[in-house]
Amino acid sequence: MTQLLDGKGAVVTGAASGIGRAIARRFAEHGASVVVADIRDDPREGGIPTHESITEAGGSAKYVECDVTDHGSIVNAVDAADEFGGVDVMVNNAGIASPGGPLVDLDYEDYRTVIDVTLDGMVAGSQAAARRMLEDDTRGSIINMSSKLGIEGSGGLTQYCTAKGGIRLFTYALADELGPEGIRVNAIHPGLIETALTSGGASETDEEYRDLVLQGIPLRRQAQPEEVAGVALFLASDLASYVTGESILVDGGSTNSA
Ligand code: NAD
Repeated sequence: MTQLLDGKGAVVTGAASGIGRAIARRFAEHGASVVVADIRDDPREGGIPTHESITEAGGSAKYVECDVTDHGSIVNAVDAADEFGGVDVMVNNAGIASPGGPLVDLDYEDYRTVIDVTLDGMVAGSQAAARRMLEDDTRGSIINMSSKLGIEGSGGLTQYCTAKGGIRLFTYALADELGPEGIRVNAIHPGLIETALTSGGASETDEEYRDLVLQGIPLRRQAQPEEVAGVALFLASDLASYVTGESILVDGGSTNSA
């Protein structure tokens, strides 16, 4: 099999679980050495830690405890890629679910938490990676995990839309800034992906809501994290050498259909 990331060093935040875990494993299958940067090493959905599953499969990975809301912690995670020859690919994926409800009832602390982790953590991760790529003259790739809700507004999820919409325009601006240095910056916008973030503690009402949501997806199903990982692999690799400042929907067609 062609190894698309042979010899590359990658840092993936939120890689203990879900989408980040699938990206880390996919990258490692393609020859990258991966820093699994997360506040925990055990997957939220269960199973063995990501870095262990990669090394058991013959790949190269290490876990670094990292809280993306702590600037020093994310710099430390990027530095950890030094043992792999530096950071070639940075995936800012860590994010948390947002409490739903109207803005008028929104607890400001809840709002701050969503923005701190999901938006500010992504900015901090991009800055730390960009600094290292520029220092090392690396023509790298930065990938930011937005959401279909970074394109569409959804009532009751104002804070999540604020964070994910911010990621989209931040990505475009940074792509403009770093393009002349040969560093590409792109965003992925997943729709409904089956992870602990979307399936935790589902009630019967949630199930009914999910059925309704599926009716709005042309492919009539939610996706597996591996289906997002394939797009991240493309963006990380030379297959996407002329792709920057782009937003890629991975949503089964839901955003662009009636
Ligand atoms: P998940 O809950 O399965 O995994 C998220 C991971 O991020 C966890 O391992 C968690 O420990 C880690 N994390 C949380 N806070 C952190 C912090 N402060 N510092 C470092 N790591 C932290 O979620 P997921 O579904 O895999 O989501 C991954 C990303 O994809 C998120 O940004 C999410 O908003 C986005 N997304 C998910 C969906 C979906 O349907 N699952 C849809 C659109 C966008």
